[in-house]
Amino acid sequence: MSNDPRWRPETQAVALGRPTGPGAPLNVPPNLASTYLVGTDLVYSRYGNPAYDALEEAVGALEGGHAVSFASGMSASAAVIESLPSGARVVAGTSLYNGTRQLLADLASRGRLVHDPVDPSDIPSLTKKLVDADLLWVESPTNPLIQVVDLEQVGQLAAAANVPLVVDNTFATPILQNPLKYGAAAVVHSATKFIGGHSDLILGVVVVPTEEAADELVRRRILHGGAAGGMETFLALRGLRTLPIRIQTAQRSAGIIATRLAEHRSVSAVFYPGLIDDPGHEIATKQMRGYGSMLSFTLPSEDAAEQMLGRTNLIRVATSLGAVETTAERRNRWPGEGAPTGLIRLSVGIEHVEDIWSDISDALDAV
Ligand SMILES: *Cc1c(COP(=O)(O)O)cnc(C)c1O
Repeated sequence: MSNDPRWRPETQAVALGRPTGPGAPLNVPPNLASTYLVGTDLVYSRYGNPAYDALEEAVGALEGGHAVSFASGMSASAAVIESLPSGARVVAGTSLYNGTRQLLADLASRGRLVHDPVDPSDIPSLTKKLVDADLLWVESPTNPLIQVVDLEQVGQLAAAANVPLVVDNTFATPILQNPLKYGAAAVVHSATKFIGGHSDLILGVVVVPTEEAADELVRRRILHGGAAGGMETFLALRGLRTLPIRIQTAQRSAGIIATRLAEHRSVSAVFYPGLIDDPGHEIATKQMRGYGSMLSFTLPSEDAAEQMLGRTNLIRVATSLGAVETTAERRNRWPGEGAPTGLIRLSVGIEHVEDIWSDISDALDAV
């Protein structure tokens, strides 16, 4: 089996990263080897192994680039940031994953780099900051307000300023959005979320446009030791096989739930780019192949939000996202993220939409 350029994402997700030749297993088995007998290119798993190759082939093709896997999303992000020279100026979206923001702040506090936050929709500000920037880091849609960044616009500004753009594509997944198309120098995924899809692994991926850039990341992985585990790599590829259908089901349900939440008397605001009056709707329609399955909504107070979550039965109250099961959490329990106190972030899963809605609606009625 070889990659057919006509294959659509649903097919690529299933068909790529498979062994070939007589007697080969259909799937690369979990690779628990740390070391190999001398005589071939296979030496030691921190340097690479066939299970990484399989996952990387599939994710790379879906994003339209070359993928390198890491031990976690944070390890993937850190590998990109670590490749910057000392004193580099990193212009980063104000609305970023907590961990990424904390990593940048930590490195800045120790003089390793300069962390310069910006609202990527504030074009004059962004243009000014890009003049002496070494990297632009954005995320779209963002956490926890599910805001949409105009990747085409940001990509053009970054290119004009000759600044490499990194896009954290975790919320959109390669099925809905491919930032390399807009000139991104790197795309980062926490495969812990949608790609894995079952809340049972931690893994990250960086996708870059060229083989040379991928080799450089492999070098970073070897030096920093952020190699993914053998079982996790197997599970991530197994999760990827069903990513397109999980996304289709979950985002259809998210659209229905967002619409009903917007009409609910207890809900003050709903943040979901699939809603026609959402500020991100137009840009999302332009750059995404669907609106995804992440949404947030606000209740009048912290108490109301906690009460509501306390009354759910089907929905799991937990952090993280992108799995088969619907999860919800009051985001303001994470300090520094700046979420409204009554904001609940919902990661819609693949249960029947009416069962998810009944659980939400019953819990809201009880508040
Ligand atoms: C979870 C997450 C990360 C970090 O990934 P880990 O796999 O937890 O290390 C990075 N970016 C986004 C958007 C995330 O949701």
